Amino acid sequence: MINNSLKREPSDTKIALNTRVIIIGAGPAGAATSIFLTKAGIPHVIIEKNQFPRDKICGDACSGKTVFVLRKANPLWPEEIFKNKAEYMPSHGVTFVSPNAKVLNIPFSPAKVLEGQAPGFITPRLTFDNFLFEKLASNYAAIYQKATVKSIERQADGTVQVNFIHEDETYEVTAPLIVGADGDKSQVRKKFLSSHTSSKAYCVGLRAYYQGVTGLHENHFIELHFLPEVLPGYFWIFPLPNGITNVGIGMMSDRIRKKKINLREEMLNAIKTNPNISHRFSNAKLVDKIQGWGLPMCMKRQPLSGDNFLLTGDAAGMIDPFTGEGIGNAMYSGMLAAFAIEELLKAGKHDAALIKEKYDDVLFKRIGNELKTSATLQRLSHYPWLFNFVVEKAHKSKTLNDTITSMFTGIDLRKQLRKPSFYTRILLNR
Ligand SMILES: Cc1cc2nc3c(=O)[nH]c(=O)nc-3n(C[C@H](O)[C@H](O)[C@H](O)COP(=O)(O)OP(=O)(O)OC[C@H]3O[C@@H](n4cnc5c(N)ncnc54)[C@H](O)[C@@H]3O)c2cc1C
Repeated sequence: MINNSLKREPSDTKIALNTRVIIIGAGPAGAATSIFLTKAGIPHVIIEKNQFPRDKICGDACSGKTVFVLRKANPLWPEEIFKNKAEYMPSHGVTFVSPNAKVLNIPFSPAKVLEGQAPGFITPRLTFDNFLFEKLASNYAAIYQKATVKSIERQADGTVQVNFIHEDETYEVTAPLIVGADGDKSQVRKKFLSSHTSSKAYCVGLRAYYQGVTGLHENHFIELHFLPEVLPGYFWIFPLPNGITNVGIGMMSDRIRKKKINLREEMLNAIKTNPNISHRFSNAKLVDKIQGWGLPMCMKRQPLSGDNFLLTGDAAGMIDPFTGEGIGNAMYSGMLAAFAIEELLKAGKHDAALIKEKYDDVLFKRIGNELKTSATLQRLSHYPWLFNFVVEKAHKSKTLNDTITSMFTGIDLRKQLRKPSFYTRILLNR
């Protein structure tokens, strides 16, 4: 085992660390990177600005992709999650409500789901991110919480150096590679990529916790209500344990700006007056304040790396532009970043061309088509009539039904959505 080396400077003012990888951020993306680096025996330093357990504004819904990465990390972890019914709500499907209020219940495919488990789950991020964080302790990971990054610099010798403050001490950590897992407002992205996420691919979401919402599906389906006033976007109700629900609304930021929409009012209005929603909130109580945060969506392929650096999760803008799913993609990109790093360190290289080949290209080969399909669906969902039409057809077409299910559970069927023959079949009701 190789340890992160630690050296105190003679002046005693700065602690110098040498490692192989620096990870900024310990959310799902950073945690997944660290977990798989540890599995490969690669020493690394994690710098996190908050102290765990910490909250993250989110819908709290974890898909099959999250379960897949967890299982790859350690098959016992999904077992641990699904056994803990007090904190984790297993979810077996999704309810779509079209702009004209037609309801479509789609159970997630039970294929590949192990006994006693479910395709997905819902749990507050306070709980899930802490679950992941507690798995990071290892001889290979040096973790600094409540740390403030002061500077990130590429050195003349081809390494990266990060200066940070932790418990009143100044640290200077040096490594050949840095992973930006620092979320939506990524400092690593800002430092190394001149183009920041374009406003067109940006969604804003509000989250609220309510107690006592009624009419939830018996198999804990997540609910997406595509209200005409928030398209392309949706109002959601996701069930959590103990009678709590995560309720929220998400909408593209360019549309919010253009139409001068007050998203908070829009959400409260739906809860108070929408005939399909309001009666379910008649005895419900808001149990936390309503809070908002941004969702950087992947509408088209963008660079995720360069000399010495790799971006993961929200720092890479990896949120699915139709479903809004970001946790699974954050963990998946973190896992692939760790696999790429293992190869790069073996080769003793960390130049932009090789990192792109080992990381960006692999990631987009695996989930690029899925993201392209979601980007198309998001564009189509600008049109309520089309949405109503698709939901109407999904009631009759098994193919379409299966495809919508696959958007939340698998990748393969999504390819069909990009074939013209698929639409012909729907039109012909097959
Ligand atoms: C309203 C809303 C609803 C959503 N609903 C869902 C949902 O239901 N399902 C889903 O899958 N996704 C959802 N998402 C998306 C999901 O929350 C993100 O995609 C996911 O959190 C990305 O994980 P991450 O690790 O990349 O970033 P984060 O979870 O943001 O973690 C980044 C970490 O980096 C730390 N950090 C940031 N800056 C620094 C710094 N300078 N120095 C050190 N540390 C730093 C932060 O403290 C944090 O711990 C939603 C998002 C929003 C806003």
